[in-house]
Amino acid sequence: MADTIVDGNTRWKCMLCGKCCREIGRGLEGSRLELDRKSGRCAKLNIKNMCSEYQRRPVICQMYPFHPSREALALGEVDFSIGKLLIDPACPGFGQGGKVLDNKLLMEELKKVALLLEHRIDLINQGKVVDAFF
Ligand code: SF4
Ligand code: SF4
Repeated sequence: MADTIVDGNTRWKCMLCGKCCREIGRGLEGSRLELDRKSGRCAKLNIKNMCSEYQRRPVICQMYPFHPSREALALGEVDFSIGKLLIDPACPGFGQGGKVLDNKLLMEELKKVALLLEHRIDLINQGKVVDAFF
């Protein structure tokens, strides 16, 4: 299913299923996640099903399942507002819990990630990194 625009009625809650670390990374366009060759899981996922580098996890992991469109990003636009932000409907938390719009904590977190992405775009323009998400 194609990425879906987050609107005022979109609901999401993390179900702590770990699917994003086990499978979804494989499907991410241009993913640079280091995957375990045998299982296909992210190599940073430890035996307790937790990220072993949580504090240093890539930007894409910090915002998943939310993200701006690649087209907007290519233009240097990082707009995480409702109506612009996208969500991956393959995340089992899509459609669960309360409305994204009403989740102040989540909206604050997304604002921080948007700032981080803007910084990453600056670094790309300076030739210091090649991808804003990793
Ligand atoms: S796939 Fe979605 S619901 Fe599951 S852990 Fe990741 S973000 Fe949470
Ligand atoms: S880096 Fe960490 S958060 Fe990101 S996919 Fe791997 S285990 Fe999950």
